[in-house]
Amino acid sequence: MLDLATLKARAADRLANPATLANAANPANPANQQDAPISQLAALAGLAASDAWCWPHAEAMNGAELQTFAARVQLFIRRGADESVAENLADRLVIRDRQRDHRRTCLECQHYRHGRCGNRLRAGLHSAEIGPDLAVLLQHCGGFAS
Ligand code: SF4
Repeated sequence: MLDLATLKARAADRLANPATLANAANPANPANQQDAPISQLAALAGLAASDAWCWPHAEAMNGAELQTFAARVQLFIRRGADESVAENLADRLVIRDRQRDHRRTCLECQHYRHGRCGNRLRAGLHSAEIGPDLAVLLQHCGGFAS
């Protein structure tokens, strides 16, 4: 199973590049970094400013989004999703959250485990079985619990 550090590094690498490459003035771009920082304070200021080049100012995920992304991938894997499904869904949920879309997926629901719904009556389902397509479908479900 992937650890949190690996997930964060992978997400940062995949999603930070558009911002760093698209903006030639971005201090996060290695081409714009000086050989040595003026001081430790300057280095820290640069780190603090790094989110200025991310959402909502650019498309790259900010620090909070990266944390959420990594936590979701781990959660979805624990709930039975394979790694690629977990990462793809976590990516889509970043967009959903930015759009303030209130729909949820079964993989986010505490009643979902390994292809089954533990709250099927409230959800209005005839069967507890949740297929892979339904598990990642954004929907409004009366049985959802986070
Ligand atoms: S309660 Fe709704 S959202 Fe939760 S697992 Fe069942 S069908 Fe999915």
